Amino acid sequence: MFTKSFHTHTTRCRHAEGKDREYVLEAVKSGMTVLGFSDHSPYVFEGDYYSGFRMRPEEAEGYFASIQALKQEFAGQIEIHTGFEAEYYPRFFPAYEKLLSRLPAEYLLLGQHFLFDEIEKIPSGRETDDETLLKQYVNQVSDAMKTGMFACVAHPDCFRFAGSEAAYEREMTRLCENALLCGVPLEINLLGIRTNRHYPNPAFWRIAGRVGNTVVCGSDAHAPKDVCDTASYEKALAMAAEYGLKLCEADVILKGGHTLR
Ligand SMILES: [Zn+2]
Ligand SMILES: [Zn+2]
Repeated sequence: MFTKSFHTHTTRCRHAEGKDREYVLEAVKSGMTVLGFSDHSPYVFEGDYYSGFRMRPEEAEGYFASIQALKQEFAGQIEIHTGFEAEYYPRFFPAYEKLLSRLPAEYLLLGQHFLFDEIEKIPSGRETDDETLLKQYVNQVSDAMKTGMFACVAHPDCFRFAGSEAAYEREMTRLCENALLCGVPLEINLLGIRTNRHYPNPAFWRIAGRVGNTVVCGSDAHAPKDVCDTASYEKALAMAAEYGLKLCEADVILKGGHTLR
């Protein structure tokens, strides 16, 4: 049974639904023991650029206050944590670190939805056979992990590569080896399973099995009904067995000693 997830969104990201409390109620009703909120993090950009799929910096305070109240209301019934899912954008990271230092986030999931930073508009999920972009993705995820701030990589296989299998094998082996070195678990994303996305990608998880990465599952819920996605979890379990993955309970995310500066 799927009992612990650290990948949960809220309506503040503008593409999720349901009240914060409804996510917790659903988790409790389904018998989950740990729920981590990790909404799309606010980020600080330059000029008049506005990012439409994340909370705004001024909404962060309300986010933490709301989850804190739920922690108290549901104490003894479920353990609740609060973090963010964030990209690693080198150009904007210093400002982001400054923003984070004022907020009580317990953990960060790396969700590298764009290459470089999102201003260039190169989504990681846009199919490409360009090896330079594949390398860029792996470099960026690796550099993110090396900051020591990210406790887990969400959907590490979201990069959609249609080029040579040998290049995919080589680059994703590099990603997995860097994750192992940095002590960062990799997430099998249940949203990908439930909505038939191009991830989880078996080719990626075969590599992770060989490298020996620590693996967790995250529901990536954007609606309360998806918080406890046992059907997708069972498919993830089958994949984990097939590739010999070291599947752990998701609260290993809190035990990696990753620090938010
Ligand atoms: Zn989302
Ligand atoms: Zn997510």
